[in-house]
Amino acid sequence: MQGRINHASFDTLIIGGGIAGCEAALNLANNEFKVLLVEKDLSIGGKMILLSKVFPTLDCSACITTPKVSEVSRHPGIMLFTGSEVKKIVRIAYNNFDATVVKNPRYVIAEDCTGCQLCEEACPVIVRDQYQMDLVGRKAAYIPFIIASPRIAAIDIENCTLCGACEKVCPTNCIDFTQEPEEYQVTVKTVVLATGFKLFDPLMMPRYGYGLYKNVITSMQMERQLAPTRPFNTILRPGDGKVPDKIAYVLCTGSRDATVENPICSQICCMYSIKQAQLLMGALPMADVTIYYINIRSFGKGFEEFYEQAKGMGVNFIKGKIGRISEKENGNMMLRYEDINKGIVKESEHDMVVLSVGVLANQDTATFFSNDELKLDPFKFVYQVDSFASPARTSIDGVFVAGTASGPMDIPDSILSAGAASSEAIGYLIQKQ
Ligand code: SF4
Ligand code: SF4
Repeated sequence: MQGRINHASFDTLIIGGGIAGCEAALNLANNEFKVLLVEKDLSIGGKMILLSKVFPTLDCSACITTPKVSEVSRHPGIMLFTGSEVKKIVRIAYNNFDATVVKNPRYVIAEDCTGCQLCEEACPVIVRDQYQMDLVGRKAAYIPFIIASPRIAAIDIENCTLCGACEKVCPTNCIDFTQEPEEYQVTVKTVVLATGFKLFDPLMMPRYGYGLYKNVITSMQMERQLAPTRPFNTILRPGDGKVPDKIAYVLCTGSRDATVENPICSQICCMYSIKQAQLLMGALPMADVTIYYINIRSFGKGFEEFYEQAKGMGVNFIKGKIGRISEKENGNMMLRYEDINKGIVKESEHDMVVLSVGVLANQDTATFFSNDELKLDPFKFVYQVDSFASPARTSIDGVFVAGTASGPMDIPDSILSAGAASSEAIGYLIQKQ
């Protein structure tokens, strides 16, 4: 690889700039420790910054996330690398690691970009917008999303035709197609793994028809339709743009299901589906919303009351696992399911189906370390060596885990876990000084 080699040292390397990574970074930096935060995406904030509201309080998710991410971006004790990846971590002494970090090119000089979006307006290439979960398009020159942090344009070089339209309009001449990956060698004393989770890919369950039927969408696609920064001004089914009257949720899509090798509960799907159902009742007061479930696991503070509230609002709950989804000529979906309480197989028709997809481990985490073994649990999440007394400790001394890298959890638990990881890292740093 071409590119400059740069050297620097930090107290802690945090991998992952979602809500857990940001929380851990702020805790460490506010205690005078030098932090390098590496995020592979173009913006920090993780999945939380893209959500509509949080359960069970229905507070605006972005309103909670944005002050935190902007504090991370501006904090003098935090060096932030977005669009960057950790390639290798090697232990060089008992409390020192050498990390190789690669900053991928944005093809925009970050310091000079004003975020004016003129390049975006001028660019003629339209591709699917991954931040809007492919519901709409974006340009090849783009700001990732409206509240991205940092708010800097990037060129999607895989789809760019090099037509030069963006360069012509950029007022600061900051588009630079000559950029190359830059490699950094950094020395760190501790590492916090905040690499988060992956969403289950419903293409793995062809019987639900995702990818085949346009009106079967994922819960993340519905989340974007409900968010303040949503792509449309209302809820639309993708097949024909109709406002749906009858919406079905299929819980445990890819969770508690050994046939797709994910037998564990994803812990958040029941509650985010109940939240979305409540928001839908607000957005589309005439619509019917039905949730098909195996069990409702409303275990957290205020969760059971939130579930009861949804029932009181008129959300239908049917205990039944969906066997198959098929499409009618008018684009409606037929759901075949067992009504578990009645012990009979039934069919029902809905305008639109939302698959409440589960949580999978981000397996990249284990590949970082070259002369230490990072142990994983049987479900490929980071193994917590002492999950009761010291839940942030991993199998490697000086490496701590924060948030969903250790298993499925909701946002408050992720933030608590990040607090624990940063406290343990601080304790370790003080002890080794
Ligand atoms: S050079 Fe690429 S990014 Fe710029 S306007 Fe043309 S297609 Fe879009
Ligand atoms: S790259 Fe240039 S045109 Fe695009 S947002 Fe930045 S300053 Fe504006």
